[in-house]
Amino acid sequence: MSLLLEDVTLTYPDGEGRLTALDAVSLDVPAGTLTAVVGPSGSGKSSLLAVAATLVTPDSGRVVVAGLDTGTLDRAGKARLRREHIGLVFQQPNLLPSLTALEQLQVMAQLSGGASRAARDRAAALLDSVGLAAQAHRRPHQLSGGQRQRVNIARALMNEPSVLLVDEPTSALDHERGAAVMELIAGLTRDRGTATVLVTHDRTHLGRADRTVTVRDGRIGAHAPV
Ligand code: ADP
Ligand code: MG
Repeated sequence: MSLLLEDVTLTYPDGEGRLTALDAVSLDVPAGTLTAVVGPSGSGKSSLLAVAATLVTPDSGRVVVAGLDTGTLDRAGKARLRREHIGLVFQQPNLLPSLTALEQLQVMAQLSGGASRAARDRAAALLDSVGLAAQAHRRPHQLSGGQRQRVNIARALMNEPSVLLVDEPTSALDHERGAAVMELIAGLTRDRGTATVLVTHDRTHLGRADRTVTVRDGRIGAHAPV
């Protein structure tokens, strides 16, 4: 299932007037593909993800997630859509300090009422797929920055999202660990068939993406297939 943004405009109040964060943005992200989004700071990259994640409602335009037009959903409907279909990865992992890596993932299943035995198995398999089988019982302070970001990514995949939205996942990592995280996200996108959008200011990793789009002043620029 894909992610579709159609002619999306988003403004924020700004003094007397409005600031246009997204200006008639259209983006079609097919399942199993990775779209990288680059652009200067303040150009609207995070706003694009927030709209795609249904965290922010645009002034106009359509956002279609997993075949559902999100404009038809109320608050509860959007919350459910996020739980069932959207995986979010932010720059800072925001892991719960007292939980082990395995438990961070299990919590996600509990939120959606998943059975605990199946959830535990799934969490363990996901940690394995991000290379952290041996660290499953460690708490965040016992993990490196790169490992914490891997837990963060695995957690976002816990409920088998069809759409994966990732905001600057490598910015707190050194080049080598950043490259490994990009590689991981590209691989997971193919294996799990997610429609993935990844914001990055780090152009050195763009080769892993299926295509790169540039955002400038809230507008989408050239679509350069890689
Ligand atoms: P980027 O992620 O590319 O740095 P953002 O999407 O965060 O850009 O921001 C785009 C523009 O919208 C910026 O001018 C920013 O200041 C503004 N903006 C972002 N979030 C808000 C908000 N919640 N309220 C008001 N203005 C915002
Ligand atoms: Mg941002």
